[in-house]
Amino acid sequence: MAERVQLDDVTKVFGETTAVDDVSLTVEPGETLGLVGPSGCGKTTTLRTVAGFETPTRGAVRFGEEDITHVPPERRSVGLVFQSYALFDNMTVRENVEFGLKMRDVPADERAERATELLEMLDIGELAGRDPTTLSGGQQQRVGLARALAIEPRVLLLDEPMTGLDAKLKTRLQEEIGALLDDLDVTALYVTHDQSEAMVMCDRIAVMNDGQVEQVGTPAEVYERPENAFVADFVGTSNRLTATAGNGRLNFGHATTPAPNGDEGEVTVVARPEAFEVGDGSFEATVRERFYLGEHVRAVADLPDGESVTLRVDPSEAPATGDRVSLALDTDRVHVLSEP
Ligand code: ATP
Repeated sequence: MAERVQLDDVTKVFGETTAVDDVSLTVEPGETLGLVGPSGCGKTTTLRTVAGFETPTRGAVRFGEEDITHVPPERRSVGLVFQSYALFDNMTVRENVEFGLKMRDVPADERAERATELLEMLDIGELAGRDPTTLSGGQQQRVGLARALAIEPRVLLLDEPMTGLDAKLKTRLQEEIGALLDDLDVTALYVTHDQSEAMVMCDRIAVMNDGQVEQVGTPAEVYERPENAFVADFVGTSNRLTATAGNGRLNFGHATTPAPNGDEGEVTVVARPEAFEVGDGSFEATVRERFYLGEHVRAVADLPDGESVTLRVDPSEAPATGDRVSLALDTDRVHVLSEP
């Protein structure tokens, strides 16, 4: 049975640095929660606190009802998957997977059965007898995951597990391991600086900045309804435009549109690239840059007030650099922040 993981007002101070600043988070039983944010924002320290490698300066960590804040790592039953696969290279793949069970004095036949089951589940059954140093990065990553899952951990912790893999393999593993985490009844915390990876792999995402959690929500919630400018900028590409709201309109100075809700005063409008359509609209812009990305074209266009917007356009309809275009903003797809 998967358990709930809870951080209550966790702070971790290293000398002058507050790495984690009053973080409260709940990972629901069976859920995969992504911790994302820029380098140095405190993701790894948060994860290490859950693992037991760091003791919080203040606050508590709970697994289910149990306060484990001062329980040493080896007694927490956590499964760890790191960026450096950290497989034991003096052991075969099977021995690596069985290692944790051996440490727990699980009988040999049970160990073998569990390892076989996991290796097959991860589609690497044929690698059981191999030396891990002869495996590709993707294969090693699967072995790392099998080893972490072998002990039937109370909580699975993954720290940048896809780093170092090539782009294509990364995409495949994200989909596969994301589906696996969905199927498994395990509570997982997944650290990555790559917001798109978190969106594929995780049920919910906590966006961290400077030791604090800025927003927690499903991928769609943080993308479509970012609570502040930091989240809007960190998750996906966002255009942030200042406007004055009133009388049901948004006035951008050089253009006006209907307002999506009853905002008043100075606001920031967050518009994703796909919220703009090239064609008839109230925004006049000049295309400054254009990047062909196969499935779509990303274009950057300058507005009359000197601000620029990023657009996502179908290649067959994409304007050329230097073109003057008219843009329609679908205000059902924008998000208005009351901060100017
Ligand atoms: P990255 O994505 O670069 O791994 P992160 O979000 O995981 O970053 P942390 O590794 O948690 O960030 O670090 C948060 C802050 O705490 C950083 O300023 C870091 O330098 C500091 N820090 C982390 N561990 C220690 C330590 N053992 N001693 C001193 N400072 C530390």
